[in-house]
Amino acid sequence: MKLLLVEDEPELQEITVKHLKADGYVVDACGDGLSAVDFAFATVYDAIILDIMLPGLDGLQVLRQLRGKGQAVPVLLLTARDSIEDRVKGLDAGADDYLVKPFSYAELTARIRALLRRQSPEIKSDKLGLADLEMDLNSRIVTRGNQTISLTQREFNLLEVLLRNQNIVLTREKIEQQIYDFGFEGGSNVIDVYIRYLRKKIDPNHEPKLIHTMRGIGYVLRDGD
Ligand code: CA
Repeated sequence: MKLLLVEDEPELQEITVKHLKADGYVVDACGDGLSAVDFAFATVYDAIILDIMLPGLDGLQVLRQLRGKGQAVPVLLLTARDSIEDRVKGLDAGADDYLVKPFSYAELTARIRALLRRQSPEIKSDKLGLADLEMDLNSRIVTRGNQTISLTQREFNLLEVLLRNQNIVLTREKIEQQIYDFGFEGGSNVIDVYIRYLRKKIDPNHEPKLIHTMRGIGYVLRDGD
């Protein structure tokens, strides 16, 4: 899951990014409204956490620009005070939810999870799966059959992208965009390497094979050839 955090207080930005990354999210962060618009149009995010009081454009102006240009990405607004006026303005501008500062990190992640669930109505629980492969997004436990599979954070994120897009062929670029943050400059075979690691963990000793290589195109997760 890839998030954009727009927050101009450096300490709050830093600590929030640290927490989110520790929880397995891929996170880009910036501290002003103009950069936020640039980021939001340069990359596909699963959700944006957007402070209202920002230099450049404020959060509401950013939101209006995104919605005005058809960006439907879920947005969680951060407001400094709990005024009804702010809330109404935020919702009118197209926010999906808002959180009043100061907030606890636990509340922030609960709101994010709720936004992501609403975004993908086919995901009724916090579980993803295909055949006998199952991923629990909260406990971050992956099992195949009765066997628990231990994955690194990067492998987990890669598998999550594949599971969310099962039966869809993904190019390396598309995968890369979803599992790395903005500053990433990897070689072209980085995704192939991670796919190889992941395949070794989930496919041997099991039928059917789930990870399929589409030569010259990319990869697809599906049940059967
Ligand atoms: Ca601010």
